[in-house]
Amino acid sequence: MATLELRIYPDPVLRQSCEKVETFDKKLADFASEMIAAMDWERGIGLAAPQVGDGRCVIVARQMVDTEHTDAPPIVLVNPVVSFRSKDTWEYEEGCLSIPGINAPVIRAKSVQVDYDDIEGNHQQLAAEGMFARVLQHEIDHLSGRLFIDYLSTAAKSLIKPKLKQLAEEQSS
Ligand SMILES: [Zn+2]
Repeated sequence: MATLELRIYPDPVLRQSCEKVETFDKKLADFASEMIAAMDWERGIGLAAPQVGDGRCVIVARQMVDTEHTDAPPIVLVNPVVSFRSKDTWEYEEGCLSIPGINAPVIRAKSVQVDYDDIEGNHQQLAAEGMFARVLQHEIDHLSGRLFIDYLSTAAKSLIKPKLKQLAEEQSS
């Protein structure tokens, strides 16, 4: 079982902005490994530090080629920033481990370029497209307290409102 506890909406930690990581030590590497374990435990394809109650700018994701993710290797991105977004967009049904039971279509850039530090603190850059690009945009949003439900139209929002309310009630009980 994963040692990190998943935080569920509307936990306020999900709305906080992350702090830039300056120290790249074994503690950070251990934390990243635990995040990967938690992502796999939850059968997720990406996870951001706030989702396990941590305020550091760290995400983990599976490097998927399409929507299949069985054997995609995990990657750790520290201090990730989307430095380029394609004008081309696509819509796809998204969900979030921190907002269980809710899925809704979100429009995202088809391809992105992301600047980040690897676990040793070396600056890196990667290009991603399709599902992997979507996951990166979703997880990097988490680092500034943004959730996929923020992108929904008023109509789509009102549709999921009862489910969000139910989640809030479950979390407060
Ligand atoms: Zn999420």
